Amino acid sequence: MNAIANRLAEVQRRIEHAEQAHGRAPGSVRLLAVSKTRPPEDLLEAMWAGQRRFGESYLQEALEKIDALRDHPLEWHFIGRIQSNKTRAIAENFAWVHSVADAKHARRLNQQRPPELPPLNVCLQVMLDLEESKAGLSPDQARELAAEFTAFSRLRLRGLMTLPAPAAAFEQQRLPFRRLRQLLQELRPLAPGLDCLSMGMSDDLEAAVAEGATIVRIGTAIFGPRQRQA
Ligand SMILES: *Cc1c(COP(=O)(O)O)cnc(C)c1O
Repeated sequence: MNAIANRLAEVQRRIEHAEQAHGRAPGSVRLLAVSKTRPPEDLLEAMWAGQRRFGESYLQEALEKIDALRDHPLEWHFIGRIQSNKTRAIAENFAWVHSVADAKHARRLNQQRPPELPPLNVCLQVMLDLEESKAGLSPDQARELAAEFTAFSRLRLRGLMTLPAPAAAFEQQRLPFRRLRQLLQELRPLAPGLDCLSMGMSDDLEAAVAEGATIVRIGTAIFGPRQRQA
């Protein structure tokens, strides 16, 4: 086995262990391979080892890979910061967006999702640890935006995503993930289709699985250290 296949198997073992340790149903956590900065050959190695879902953060780079790999049955997830003038390319090329944090972007994605494609799956990105984390909605803003989705026929609101500041201790890692789970429960009456918690990365996937993650986004633990700043 090559290095990527080995690391992918190791990540799958970590997910299975965490599911068992925290009373989660086997197979209830899906793995999104975060392939930003990686060349298409690395994605192919992961694909040959059984991986189909890939997450990308940089639109131009992602579009090149989507084109290069278009003959393969891959599912593309956009997880990066959204710019208003880039929503059309996202709406046309991805199956999922995890990083919607602006009502204007949601409206544009809804208008621009091509009619021949299934609705775009959306997670709202929520910021739970005030200063340190990156972009995201406050819980109140997430409630407001979730309520707007009844008007978006081309989008399917699936759940919430968070990208907390790194924390070393397991119990500390769990806190923002627990808040995200509680917020999802609160939003359920507003949006009955909610079934996703996109949370957990290479260093904190166990804590995220313990708190109910349904999609973990893993880059470094599969592909090795990134070459350039991400
Ligand atoms: C880069 C990135 C990841 C993956 O991080 P790793 O620590 O490499 O596993 C997950 N989610 C988002 C939004 C990212 O930008």
